[in-house]
Amino acid sequence: HDHAELLRERTPSSEAFHERAAAVTPLGVESNVRAFDPYPFYVDEADGSYVYDIDDNEYLDFLLALGPTILGHGHPEVREAVKAQVDTADLTATPQPIAIEFMEKIAELTPSIESVRLANSGSEATMHAMRVARSYTGRDMIAKPEGGYAGAHDYALQSVYASEEALGPADRPNTVSYGTGIPDVISDTVVAFPFNDKEATEDILREYADDLAAVIIEPVMFSAGCLKPRDGYHEFLRELTEELDIILIWDEVMTGFRLGLGSAQERFGVTPDMTTFAKVAGGGYQTGGFGGKAEIMAEIEPPEKKEDEKWHASAFHGGTYNGHPVSAAAGLKTLEILEREDVYDHIEQMGEKLFGGLQEVADDVGLPVNVQNVGSMGQVYMTDADIHSYRDSWKANEEQFADWWLEAAGRGVLFGNPMQGERFFTTYTHTEEEIDHALEIAEEAFRAVNH
Ligand code: PLP
Repeated sequence: HDHAELLRERTPSSEAFHERAAAVTPLGVESNVRAFDPYPFYVDEADGSYVYDIDDNEYLDFLLALGPTILGHGHPEVREAVKAQVDTADLTATPQPIAIEFMEKIAELTPSIESVRLANSGSEATMHAMRVARSYTGRDMIAKPEGGYAGAHDYALQSVYASEEALGPADRPNTVSYGTGIPDVISDTVVAFPFNDKEATEDILREYADDLAAVIIEPVMFSAGCLKPRDGYHEFLRELTEELDIILIWDEVMTGFRLGLGSAQERFGVTPDMTTFAKVAGGGYQTGGFGGKAEIMAEIEPPEKKEDEKWHASAFHGGTYNGHPVSAAAGLKTLEILEREDVYDHIEQMGEKLFGGLQEVADDVGLPVNVQNVGSMGQVYMTDADIHSYRDSWKANEEQFADWWLEAAGRGVLFGNPMQGERFFTTYTHTEEEIDHALEIAEEAFRAVNH
């Protein structure tokens, strides 16, 4: 049975367009994760809870741009703020008050952030945060959980999307680059540890303590679906990094301003030394950033007292597009709406209804499924095994997940994208009726893959 049949039938224009796209760009897509078999559909309109492809099909959207879309697509006030900014000043590469106001708001809302810098993506954010941490500590190495995605740069693409064979022992994972083109020497500067395993985490961090600048970790590991921290894991890591003088960076690119106004750190009551953010912060426009204790962020400033030192004695952070005024306007307006309205209550209610409902309908169909979520974000694992670690997540049937996703997409509902290691979201414009509809479609799709 071809699980892509329904989708294929309704997307002839996308099929033709894919050929054109593949002639000009690898895989016919702008980012690798947008490609899937047999071909992706191309979207040229988005509004509220829906996206529309070039065959004019409507999709009820839970992919939501991979996370940024927290108010629904094209929220009228965000749209207006963007238009007003476009009419006032585009990029000048001189500092603009709108970007400073945006940073003030981020610092005001985020417990760990006293001082902050803006970039253009989550990848830039983690790259710069790592550099500042190395500068502050005078050490070169970074520790990260195996299977955690912290961006597309060389230092982040370590021990992620890796096979069991490549990663080796569970309590002592190898550091391996994802994909080609990354110098082997980079792997010498990164060490991986197993998320949620206190004992192994402690052993590894203690062993490398003298060389470690930072631990970078997602509060909930959404980069492997939805791995919730075990009770006390983050508190333990906070204490241990403090004891060992290692900077704790929370990568809140996915969770920032989504798990609450004060992000996951306020929700969990653990304060890291540094934080990275992107996605929701930009309200659908490209942004990213990193911040933390003022003393650490001061690494970016040349040390005043050492007048004989050259300018580059500090950690460099620059970028033509940093703090782009249009992104700043969109982000500031988004944060203002998040502060003013009951967005979090709504998306969490919709999240409980959606993810709870998905577990119920899968159970009704008799398919072994484990649905995990934290509020408005979650994932359907195609297994009934418990999932607490990256390696647990390998128990899920990836092919079946992709088939389920295709069956649902062919019926006009986008449950994220067709990869078991991804996750999906609810948004402010979702209604109870839309969730009910999504659950009906999900059930049909579960039936279609239950063989
Ligand atoms: N860190 C985490 C936790 C992410 O989930 C992502 C992207 O999904 C990134 C970093 C990289 O962000 P970006 O895609 O904006 O470069």
